[in-house]
Amino acid sequence: MNYEHLDPYKKDILIVDDMPDNLRVLSSILTREGYNVRKALNWQMALTATQTVLPDLILLDIMMPEVDGYEICQTFKAWELTADIPVIFISALDDVFDKVKAFRVGGVDYITKPFEFQEVLVRVQNQLALRAARLEILKLNIELEHRVKQRTWELENALQKLHEEIISRQKLQSQILDIALHDSLTGLPNRVLFIRQLKNALNRAKQEPNFKFAVLFLDCDRFKVINDSLGHLVGDELLIAIGRRLQTCLLPIDTLARLGGDEFGILLENIADINIAIQVAERILQQLSLAFKLSRYEVFMNASIGISWGNKDYDRPEYLLRDADTAMYRAKAQGRAKYHVFDPAMHQEAIQLLELENDLRRAVERQEFLVYYQPIVSLTTGRISGFEALVRWQHPTRGLVSPIEFIPVAEETGLISAINTWVLQSACHQLSIWQHHPITPEPLSISVNLSARLFSQPNLLDQIDRIIHENKINPEHLQLEITESVIMENTNAIKIILEQLRQRQIKLVMDDFGTGYSSLSYLHSFPLNALKIDKSFVKRMQENEENMGLVPAMIGIANSMGMSAIAEGVETQEQLAQLRNLNCDFAQGYLFSKPIEEELVMKLLTTAPQW
Ligand code: C2E
Ligand code: MG
Ligand code: MG
Repeated sequence: MNYEHLDPYKKDILIVDDMPDNLRVLSSILTREGYNVRKALNWQMALTATQTVLPDLILLDIMMPEVDGYEICQTFKAWELTADIPVIFISALDDVFDKVKAFRVGGVDYITKPFEFQEVLVRVQNQLALRAARLEILKLNIELEHRVKQRTWELENALQKLHEEIISRQKLQSQILDIALHDSLTGLPNRVLFIRQLKNALNRAKQEPNFKFAVLFLDCDRFKVINDSLGHLVGDELLIAIGRRLQTCLLPIDTLARLGGDEFGILLENIADINIAIQVAERILQQLSLAFKLSRYEVFMNASIGISWGNKDYDRPEYLLRDADTAMYRAKAQGRAKYHVFDPAMHQEAIQLLELENDLRRAVERQEFLVYYQPIVSLTTGRISGFEALVRWQHPTRGLVSPIEFIPVAEETGLISAINTWVLQSACHQLSIWQHHPITPEPLSISVNLSARLFSQPNLLDQIDRIIHENKINPEHLQLEITESVIMENTNAIKIILEQLRQRQIKLVMDDFGTGYSSLSYLHSFPLNALKIDKSFVKRMQENEENMGLVPAMIGIANSMGMSAIAEGVETQEQLAQLRNLNCDFAQGYLFSKPIEEELVMKLLTTAPQW
C-alpha cells in the first residue's frame, strides 16, 4: 500500500473486515466525511497497516476466518504502541455477538450491520473526539510533568543558592561578631565578651553550689610614661607582649580579656578557693617583673591587681568587675606591683568616694574653698620669710575637709585644675596685700603647691603669667612646689615648662623630697631652687639621734646642687636646733605655727616673731 497520499492532518481510520463489500461501503462513507481510510481484509494486512502508520481509530469486524476480531483487539491492546487506539467492533445483526467479551478485550463501542450511516458516523466521531481529548490530556500531562520537573530543578537550584548565601552570611556574621567581641590589638576577648563570660560563670554558680570562680582586674602601673616617652607604637607592642605573658600564667580554661587601655581582666573558673586566685596574682606580678624585650627597647612594666571572689549573690556580672576594679585601686594605693582582695567594706568606701566626687563638683561651682597659710622660717635670721598656701574645703555639712582627702579625688576627676588655679590666684592676691603693708618684712614669699596634673594642661604658663600680672607681684617671690612625680612622669615636656617658669624668675621647690622615686641624676637635670625635706624624715631625726637618719644627707644633696633645703614638719625645739646645726636654710612646722587663716597672718606678722 502506498500511504504517501495520507493527509497528516486528517484522522486516520483503519477498517479490518474480511468482506470487501463492507470495507467499500464503510470506506466511502468515512472518506466522504473527510477521514483517511485504510482497509485490511485480515489480521496480516491489519498488522502491516498499523506498523506503517498508527491509525487513530480501528473499525474491527468480529467474525473473520483465521484470527477473529476479539483476538486482534487483544493483541493490539497488549502492545504499547497500539494499546491506546480505540477499537470499534463491527458485527452482523445475526452474529452471535458477545458484547461483554467485546468490551473486556478492550473494545470501546460496536456498530452492527447493516450499517446505519448516521450512527456509524456519530460513534466514529465520538471515539475520535474522546481519543483526541485523551491525547490532549496526555500531552498536557507530559507538559505539566516537564514543567514541574523544570520548576523543581529551578527551585532546587534557588534553594542551593540560598543555602550557600546563608552559609556565607553566617560566616560573615560570625566574623563581624568576632570583631565585635575581640580586641583588635591583642586579639583577646574584649570587655563585652568578658562580661558575657562572667555572666555565664555567675549563672553557673547560682545553679551549682560547688562551682567557684574569681575575677582579677589588672591595670598597668605608669603605662602612660611608656606611651608619652616612647610613643604609642611601642605602647601597643608592649600591650601585646603583656597579653602574651599573662596568658603564660593562666590555664587554658581561664579567660583573659583586654578591657581597654592598659587594663586586663581575668576570669578563673572552677577554683577551690581564693588562695588559688591569690597564687595566680602573685605569679603574674612575678612574671611581669621581668623585662620586656621589645623590637627596639627593653622596658619594665608591672601592674596592680584587684581580685573579687565570685559570690553567687552578685546580681550582675558588672558588679563583680567593679569590685575587682575597686580592689585594684586599693592595690595601687598600697604602692605599685601589688594585689588586693576585695572586701565589701571597700564598696562602701567607694560609694563615699563617689559622693565626695559629686560634692567636690558642687564645691568648685560654689567656691567652697579657703586658703590657709603656714609660715616658713629662715633659719639664718629666725624670722618668717614666707608662707605656704594650703587649701581647705569648707564642706556644707562636714566642716573643714583636709586636702589629703580631696586633692586625690580632684586630681582623678580633673577638678584639680580649677581648684589649683583658684588657690594660686588667692595666694598671689594675699601676697600683694601683705607686701604693700608697712609691717611686712622684706621680701615675703608665697609658696603654692602645683598638682602634677596641671602640667598636662596646655595653658598653665599663660594662667600663671596672667595671675602674676593681675596681682602685680614680683615673680621672684612666688615659689611653686611640685612633687617628684611631676619630673618622673613626662620628662621632656615638663622640663620645658619648668625652664619657662625659671626664666620668669619663679622659684621651684621639690616638695616631699625623699618620698618619691626620683633619682639624683633626674634632680640634677631640672632647674630646681630648693628641696623640701619631707616631714617623715624630720620626725625620724629624733628616733635615730646618732646619725639623724637621712636628713643630713638630704641637706648635703641640696647644698651640693646649689639648692636651698627646707625642712617640713618641724615640731620641736630639738629638731630646730639639729636643723640649724646641719645648716638647713628654712624650716616649717607646728613649732612655728599651724596653717592659719589669712586674717591671722597679719597679726602674726605684726608680732614679728623670731626663733
Ligand atoms: P604639703 O605640701 O607637703 O604640705 C604640708 C603639709 O604638712 C600640710 O598639710 C601641713 O598642714 C602639714 N604640716 C605642716 N607642719 C606640720 C607639722 O609640724 N607636723 C605635721 N604632722 N604636719 C605638718 P595639709 O595642709 O593637710 O596639706 C596636705 C597636702 O595637700 C600638702 O602637702 C599638699 O601636697 C596638698 N595640698 C595642700 N594645698 C594644696 C593646693 O592648693 N594644691 C595642691 N595641688 N595640693 C595642695
Ligand atoms: Mg607643699
Ligand atoms: Mg610636703
